[in-house]
Amino acid sequence: MSPKIFPISLGFNDCYLIQDDGIIMVDGGAPGKIDEFKASLTRLGFKPSDIELIIVTHGHIDHIGSLKDIKEFTGAKVAIHRLDKDCVEKGEWVDSHKPKGVGRWGRMLGKIGVPLIMWLYPEAPATEVDLIIEDEGLSLIDLGVSGRVVYTPGHTIGSLSVALDSGEVFVGDLAMNKFPLRRRPGLPVLVDDLRKVRESWKQLLELGVEKVYPGHGQPFSIEVIKKAIANEMD
Ligand SMILES: [Zn+2]
Ligand SMILES: [Zn+2]
Repeated sequence: MSPKIFPISLGFNDCYLIQDDGIIMVDGGAPGKIDEFKASLTRLGFKPSDIELIIVTHGHIDHIGSLKDIKEFTGAKVAIHRLDKDCVEKGEWVDSHKPKGVGRWGRMLGKIGVPLIMWLYPEAPATEVDLIIEDEGLSLIDLGVSGRVVYTPGHTIGSLSVALDSGEVFVGDLAMNKFPLRRRPGLPVLVDDLRKVRESWKQLLELGVEKVYPGHGQPFSIEVIKKAIANEMD
């Protein structure tokens, strides 16, 4: 049976609970959203202690803002890639993690939107990391989830994705599908390295992923990404 997926919007960040034999969470929400998180758990009928691990796709504040509160409330362990660990443990915008804009809209966002986000969300409570993910990723089978954590740099140097054997992939900001970032689903308009974004997607395509769950916006078909990657190669 395929795992069940429960989206939980915590401010601008769309987080996910994945229920297989065990339950894991992807991302930690925008700052100040613990009450929304508690309400979502109640609505879904989960106990806080049901969540064993929170996988943080990357260290931007809009994905780690409520992480400390969620960790304290659930007792879940926190996992992040080695290269994004500092963001979580410091709870601030680390210089190496300020994204650059791609395309005309992305460059404008880079100039105006990123400073605005940094002003709106200057910091997050510093959160202790329990599990550091290295470049080879991590199988989730010991947590009762048929899938793995994959190192997919490009949006930040230490970005991670969670790919389920059933074809769903949770990519944080390796794809975007929410205004003002994007009006339609596609590749990120804010990146550390666009070439790495493409390489990471190729790696995920090789795993046979079918449905993309972004950190901002509704899920969409992998066909969108296949087209986006093909277009840039002509
Ligand atoms: Zn980001
Ligand atoms: Zn984001």
